[in-house]
Amino acid sequence: MNKLQEKDLKYIWHPCSQMKDYETFPPIIIKKGEGVFLYDTDENRYLDAVSSWWVNLFGHSNERINKALYNQSQKLEHVIFANFSHEKAIELAENIINITPDRLKKVFFSDNGSSSIEVALKLSFQYHQQTGKTKKKKFLAIKDAYHGETIGALSVGDIELYNKIYKPILLDTIKVDGPDCYRCKYNKDRKNCNAQCFEDIQRVVIEKHEEISGIIIEPIVQCASGMKIYSPNYLKKLRKLCDEYDINLIADEIAVGFGRTGKMFACEHAHISPDIMCLSKGLTAGYLPLSLTLMSDKIYDAFYDDYNKMKAFLHSHSYSGNALGCSVACETLKIFKEENILENNIHKSNKLKEKIEDILPYIPHLGEYRQIGMIGAIELVKNKETKEGFDFRKRVGYNIYKIALKKGVLLRPLGNIIYFMPPYVINEEEMDLMVNTARDSIIEYFKNN
Ligand SMILES: *Cc1c(COP(=O)(O)O)cnc(C)c1O
Repeated sequence: MNKLQEKDLKYIWHPCSQMKDYETFPPIIIKKGEGVFLYDTDENRYLDAVSSWWVNLFGHSNERINKALYNQSQKLEHVIFANFSHEKAIELAENIINITPDRLKKVFFSDNGSSSIEVALKLSFQYHQQTGKTKKKKFLAIKDAYHGETIGALSVGDIELYNKIYKPILLDTIKVDGPDCYRCKYNKDRKNCNAQCFEDIQRVVIEKHEEISGIIIEPIVQCASGMKIYSPNYLKKLRKLCDEYDINLIADEIAVGFGRTGKMFACEHAHISPDIMCLSKGLTAGYLPLSLTLMSDKIYDAFYDDYNKMKAFLHSHSYSGNALGCSVACETLKIFKEENILENNIHKSNKLKEKIEDILPYIPHLGEYRQIGMIGAIELVKNKETKEGFDFRKRVGYNIYKIALKKGVLLRPLGNIIYFMPPYVINEEEMDLMVNTARDSIIEYFKNN
């Protein structure tokens, strides 16, 4: 352990970690980032295959974004956002409304993904309170959902590892089985899937719609539960169902937005528009904490009245509408347009697919490979026939992660799922390094375990 590492552990509590692990596996101190690579204080290089937790789009220390950030810092860093505004927030709001699904007409600013979820839940609840359907107090979410770590967001999440201990203090949320394509209990023919699994949610909604304010969902890919990809037909049916029973459809595009699945927003795969949409992560291309909650006019209008009617949405954050964040987000959208990112990504994701398919024959315990756009995931299973996974206490993914780091690639598996979610600037040579290192690390782990 070097001096910086010692000091780090003396003072810092790292996220999503058992700090005792750091005794034998201290934090890697990064001093520089460039493109897809990170460099530590001992001159080691790591390919960032997870885009630093799914946020980075155009590489570390991107020239265009650096410049936008510097320029903004010379003019205005931040200003109170109640009664005040600024150019970059307005530019961002206009451009975002223009590219998101058509129902979305207004933008509310916050500063991280979980907060944008809290905003969505509060908006949905208050909307129904103010439009007379006061019994609509609950939210419905699907199995294996992930929406963030604050209490409200954890309540609509369904990953036990994160929320189990807090259950006594979480909101009473309705959970139903969602799509589970690899282990589908209905139609095994995925190409012709018409989302029969939708019956599960439909049944519950028909029974309980009077108490349901909103349904929250990660469109097309449930990322945190292991990059579980499902059919757009599920979303189409869900849109219809929500309309039928006056339920707000809340799309959490925090992870899948900004081109990750091949479309600018994942809802586009199903040609649907949610009533509320949450954005963060890629919004600032991995630079700054910023998030948006977008909503329809129908919701916005239900809050619009004389002050003494007490209908306003009195939610705020100190850093709402931060000017530095907005300037970077504006530049991010410009890069998408001017550098044809979505179009170029089609070619890139095809290459990624080819390269990963090349290594699959060498992967022991391969359950399934699944991919959409710039997300590729290898699910490892203990038993290929039964599709039974490894006990999470074995920490298969974590151990593979440690091996890969030594070889210069930052993978950060989700349990038994080894996935690739690289910055869009990755080139073919870098893809080879990433994919081949993953292969070697998986092989090495199973040789010794
Ligand atoms: C990351 C994530 C969140 C939470 O965002 P934070 O900025 O980490 O609070 C919510 N939903 C999804 C789908 C995410 O991937």
